[in-house]
Amino acid sequence: PPLYKQRYQFIKQLVSKHEPKKVADLGCADCRLLWMLKFCRCIEVLVGLDINEDVMKEKMHMLSPLPGDYLQPSERSLTVILLQGSVVHKDPCMLGFDMITCIELIEHLEEKELEKFPEVVFGFMSPSMIIISTPNSEFNHLLSTVTSFRHPDHKFEWNRAQFQSWALDAAARYDYTVEFTGLGAPPPGKDVGFCTQIGVFVRNYLKNGEHAHFEKHQECVYKTVFKAVY
Ligand code: SAM
Repeated sequence: PPLYKQRYQFIKQLVSKHEPKKVADLGCADCRLLWMLKFCRCIEVLVGLDINEDVMKEKMHMLSPLPGDYLQPSERSLTVILLQGSVVHKDPCMLGFDMITCIELIEHLEEKELEKFPEVVFGFMSPSMIIISTPNSEFNHLLSTVTSFRHPDHKFEWNRAQFQSWALDAAARYDYTVEFTGLGAPPPGKDVGFCTQIGVFVRNYLKNGEHAHFEKHQECVYKTVFKAVY
């Protein structure tokens, strides 16, 4: 399968393994990962956030309940919400999540946004688990079509050492443990790492309920674009 599908599959496997109830996808674009995840029975709240409202709306209808969902009501309830906003803004509706995914998002952030990102995602949202994927620049010379960056909107592409030092720093600062993996193995004999590099971060502490309560009084800044309750 193409690499983007492998990335979604990778998340689906983590969901099956850890059974999160509340999952958010940051930079969800056309909501394809959300659409796959809505079939995971453990999930009760599924949220997508993107700065680009138009791209979110393209296939949004795929997230609406099908007639069959009403004919055969399931035991679990599922709420799907799409939000327009930036990952560098704190909104209390992103609190209390079990898993937050950022698939091919960080390389689209401006320098100032990238600086703010760990404080918001690790420090404020602070879900139990965070998955971040980004291109591995060491793989680029194996992709014949790539001259500089893989996509014109990429603000940077990191090699393994760059991504790992950024990730280890964020993990240390906000008390997470990170493990590195990837998708798209290089051909035998080429030690360039995976085509897509991935960090899986697990929070080391239990979240203090009172602290979370205080944060909930923050102002809402994201705009709700879509909501469906199954
Ligand atoms: N995660 C999707 C996937 O794997 O198919 C799409 C990733 S797409 C390459 C990057 C997305 O990040 C775009 O939809 C873009 O609008 C969004 N984005 C860029 N900057 C953002 C920001 N500051 N806050 C939220 N989303 C942002």
